[in-house]
Order: sequence, then C-alpha cells, then structure tokens
Amino acid sequence: MAGNADNNPARQFTVAWQAAAAALEEWRQQVAAATTEALGKLDPAVRAAMEAGRAAFTGDWRACRCPCGTAHPDDRGVCDGRAVLTRRLGEADVSLCAPCAVAQGFAEFSR
Ligand SMILES: [Zn+2]
Ligand SMILES: [Zn+2]
Repeated sequence: MAGNADNNPARQFTVAWQAAAAALEEWRQQVAAATTEALGKLDPAVRAAMEAGRAAFTGDWRACRCPCGTAHPDDRGVCDGRAVLTRRLGEADVSLCAPCAVAQGFAEFSR
C-alpha cells in the first residue's frame, strides 16, 4: 500500500496543513469581524466608564451637593464646595464637603 497517496505522511500533513490553514484563515476573519463588532458594542461602555471615572475624579462628584439652606441654615457659609464623602440624605446619596457634613451632624444632633 506504499503507493497509496492517502497513507503518505507528507501528503496527509499537507492536506491537514491546508485544512488547518483554511480553518485558521476563516477563524482569523471571524475573529477580526467579531472584534470589530465587539469594539462597536464595547466602545460606548468604555466611554461611559471613562466618563464616570472622570466625573468621580474631576467632575460633578467632587462638588458638594449639600442643600445648605435647609440642611444647616445656621452654618450656611461653611461649605467649601469640595465633596469628600457621600452621605445618605433621604432617598439619595449626596456628596458632601467636610464642613457641611460636620454642620449637618450638628444640625441633626440639635433636632
Ligand atoms: Zn452645606
Ligand atoms: Zn458643602
């Protein structure tokens, strides 16, 4: 059976290689397409995460959300506007600067 091409290791290797190469090329194209598609889906999420991170470090999150006029009317001028912590205020987490947190603490104690 030495003349049988199907039993020739070199020929089998060549066939296998061609099949593998074809599969690899097909896989590569699918991955490329899937990656492009995935990036299309991922990009808004990544951008949203970056926006959230930017807001957390430099944006709105750092602004004091304290309703000074009602939360601590006696200490309205203490607010320095730079939130250092969040505090549960009613239904929402509110960003507070340190002076406001202290002022609110006193306000709640005195009530
Ligand atoms: Zn305040
Ligand atoms: Zn404040």
